[in-house]
Amino acid sequence: MNNVEELREKAARLSLCKKWNTKPVMGDGPLNARVVFVGEAPGRNEEKEGRPFVGLAGKFLVRELERIGMKREQFYITNIVKCRPPDNRKPKPEEVEECMGILDEELRLIKPRVIVLLGDTATKAMLDKEHKVGKDHGKIIGKGDRNFMIIPHPSAAMRFTKMRTMFKADMDGLSRLLKSP
Ligand code: URA
Repeated sequence: MNNVEELREKAARLSLCKKWNTKPVMGDGPLNARVVFVGEAPGRNEEKEGRPFVGLAGKFLVRELERIGMKREQFYITNIVKCRPPDNRKPKPEEVEECMGILDEELRLIKPRVIVLLGDTATKAMLDKEHKVGKDHGKIIGKGDRNFMIIPHPSAAMRFTKMRTMFKADMDGLSRLLKSP
């Protein structure tokens, strides 16, 4: 079975990381985490530190985890795309496709109870076009042997009041789920 370091080496060989001349940012957290958070792609801060969600959106996520009595270190946090897209643009479908194998291996390694999809890019990549943050956030959606929960992306929650309200309600839902047997 692969470990995260082997996956990092695999990610560095992706044509995307070579084309964009960036170092991959792998997931971060305990391999026995009950919950995995999946974002979109690393930004400038993440690329610099080599860790996902260390910029403003990450700080917001950590504050929200603390509000529900949790710590970042309890969760495995990763992204769909492992290399920073040029100009921080949204990754294109074919770029997402190239990275999906690595995420799948991360998830097979961790086998979380719930995979939290942060925003529409992660939702579209892991589920399908029918599922959207606006109508499906907070629900548990089963697919194969995995359970997903869609919540707004922290960057959107920081910027828009409506998204922030949804985000907070969904984090409360996650907290209730984690307290259930
Ligand atoms: N930082 C990340 O690592 N991923 C995102 O999706 C946004 C910010």
